[in-house]
Amino acid sequence: MKVLVIGAGIAGLAAAYHLKEAGIEATVLEGRDRIGGRVWTDRDFAGFPVEFGAELIHGRAPEVNTWRWVEKLGLKTWHWNKLDDSMIETEAGGWLTMGAARAQSPELDMTRSWKLGAVPLPRADEDLGAYLRRIGFSDAQMRYVQRSFANAEGDSLRYLNAKAHAHLFHDSDGADAYSDYRILDGYDSYYTQLAAGLDIRLNCAVTAIRWARGVKVETAGGAFAADAAIITLPLGVLQAGGIDFSPALPASKIEALRGLQMGPVMKMVYRFAEPILDPAIGAVYARGNPPMWWSPSLGRQGSAVVWTGFFTGDYARELLPLGEAAALRHGLETLRRAIGKPDLQYEDARWVNWVEDEFTRGGYSVCLPGHYDARERLAAPTPPLYWAGEASAPHHLTAMVHGAYFTGARAAAEIQASREDSA
Ligand SMILES: Cc1cc2nc3c(=O)[nH]c(=O)nc-3n(C[C@H](O)[C@H](O)[C@H](O)COP(=O)(O)OP(=O)(O)OC[C@H]3O[C@@H](n4cnc5c(N)ncnc54)[C@H](O)[C@@H]3O)c2cc1C
Repeated sequence: MKVLVIGAGIAGLAAAYHLKEAGIEATVLEGRDRIGGRVWTDRDFAGFPVEFGAELIHGRAPEVNTWRWVEKLGLKTWHWNKLDDSMIETEAGGWLTMGAARAQSPELDMTRSWKLGAVPLPRADEDLGAYLRRIGFSDAQMRYVQRSFANAEGDSLRYLNAKAHAHLFHDSDGADAYSDYRILDGYDSYYTQLAAGLDIRLNCAVTAIRWARGVKVETAGGAFAADAAIITLPLGVLQAGGIDFSPALPASKIEALRGLQMGPVMKMVYRFAEPILDPAIGAVYARGNPPMWWSPSLGRQGSAVVWTGFFTGDYARELLPLGEAAALRHGLETLRRAIGKPDLQYEDARWVNWVEDEFTRGGYSVCLPGHYDARERLAAPTPPLYWAGEASAPHHLTAMVHGAYFTGARAAAEIQASREDSA
């Protein structure tokens, strides 16, 4: 049996890795001239690894599969505790460490711990903003959630399906929504090893997929044929409709694509001549735009000169129309005000525009209110096509590297099972 895997992001690499482990021949077709997709470690900008895409491991071992690779490869990691190593501009005004601000304000604390007490469950068609209002969140709490939680989720509250986030309110250990870790060696130390020994064809942007008997795929780098294919294309690429599926995708897939949205997720990365803050401070939560800033300084000496602004949803919708130069100026102004250095200048900066990237067309997926089943529909196999990629992960795993891996391993297992059934 031969399988084509479309896309060499984490989902595609995991799929090909698990197919290979099962003794199934797989070829990965990737449109870009590099692997990794939305995980993209740059080593030129600052002379040490800077993450232009995924930055952190969200969660702990053993639940989070990335840790199996971190341990296997002996990679160094750093835990971001977000209490004494992060500063927040409070809604009451003034700057505190996150730990002090949370201790002082139970209102803020609740938006970080998600310990909500006995509250009604979200309704099926409710957006997260409406739900939080219904259970009594104040204006200040809504702003905290928008600045931090919703910004990290990839879109504004009105686009987030409240029911899809309900796991948070029950699974929370009260410490923080997620326990976050940085791979100090760079995320690429992981994905290059995951890809080792796989058959990967770069510069093969797929333009057509014929899936009547077996699968025939047309790409910028030639045509390929196989018995089955695993589609790991980002949601934004599938929604843009630039790939000619023949026969057309079934109604269930079209319905799934309508129920999901690619959140606009952006980064601006600045390099300064010297550290702009005490290197023990790794993050700044500002009231401006971008609302979240972090530095790879924690646990890694010499990297406090780099600061990344992270902005999504309406923050991104505000800055994108400005264009690169004006948006970078706007970001610098926010940072200057936040740290009280009005004359701060940078040496170099990068505008990492995932929204206008033809191979992603957005940051990561959100499930729209009223479409709770969309992810499951997207994931359902339609042999000879099998489906993976972060948008097809269960709700609690979407928008994350380990969720993408989960979907790739899942699709590989589905193909393996189908082969055993037909044997
Ligand atoms: C700015 C940003 C920050 C993030 N931060 C984190 C984080 O800190 N932690 C975390 O866990 N997750 C984070 N994520 C999410 C994480 O990066 C993704 O969930 C995950 O990498 C998605 O993997 P994937 O394989 O599903 O998709 P992708 O990585 O997008 O892989 C799909 C592949 O398909 C290729 N492709 C697209 N079109 C074509 C075509 N026509 N033909 C052939 N190939 C094509 C793409 O080039 C790409 O390589 C972040 C994402 C972004 C954008």
